[in-house]
Amino acid sequence: MIYYKTKEEIELLRRSAQLVSKTLGMLSEHIRPGVTPLELDKLAETYIRDHGGIPAFLGQYGFPNSLCTSVNERVVHGIPDKTPLMEGDIISVDCGVILNEFFGDQAYTFMVGDVTPEVFQLLKVTYDSLLLGIDACRAGNRIGDIGYAVQSHCEAHGYGVVRDLVGHGLGRSIHEEPQVPNFGRPGKGKKIQEGLVIAIEPMINMGTARVKHLKDGWNIVTGDGLPSAHFEHDIAVVDGMPDILSTFDYIFERTGNPFQPTPA
Ligand code: MG
Ligand code: MG
Repeated sequence: MIYYKTKEEIELLRRSAQLVSKTLGMLSEHIRPGVTPLELDKLAETYIRDHGGIPAFLGQYGFPNSLCTSVNERVVHGIPDKTPLMEGDIISVDCGVILNEFFGDQAYTFMVGDVTPEVFQLLKVTYDSLLLGIDACRAGNRIGDIGYAVQSHCEAHGYGVVRDLVGHGLGRSIHEEPQVPNFGRPGKGKKIQEGLVIAIEPMINMGTARVKHLKDGWNIVTGDGLPSAHFEHDIAVVDGMPDILSTFDYIFERTGNPFQPTPA
């Protein structure tokens, strides 16, 4: 059953989402060659607790850390480890908090130094697909319209849209109904209504859409070893329109926005 939120609940969800956004902004200053994902995890945990939140992923379904950190061919759910980041890597950082009993959940794929033009293109297309998905998240549309917007944009660039993992409703629980796939058919699926709050999170592979689940039970990698990107926002439907509760501005004010459309 989908639980539609009141205006008051949406404001609480916005505060949770904003704490995640600020955590990602703080982390953006630390992402460079030589830093380890485990160091980023500790920074995030301290920051979240210092700001009155609880790291939502820690202990969730038995996950051992506060961040999911997925480098290069890792898609999502990577366990932070002591492998130093290298120039040219990408690292998808997924972060969740609980604040006032409500969850925030957001992800961003960072570049470590300079990446190849092919990798940058993957990030840019994935980022743009998130914005297209958000634009489709309005009252009167259906969940399939969101997936279609993401899928058609990414597949037009020859990329693989991961099928095994999907976005989700968000509230007092991190995974509520409905599921929000990054693929779909226009006009299909549940109707989008006022008060819906969902996480839209395209997980897009440079090559095959197929993924492999590693034996640790968490890490998921691309089937062909090519890189994968992941961007996630929390969205509420307010006055029929998408209201983005999270923001990448705390990252962009430190690093600039690499995905800004280039003026013609
Ligand atoms: Mg997430
Ligand atoms: Mg999520």
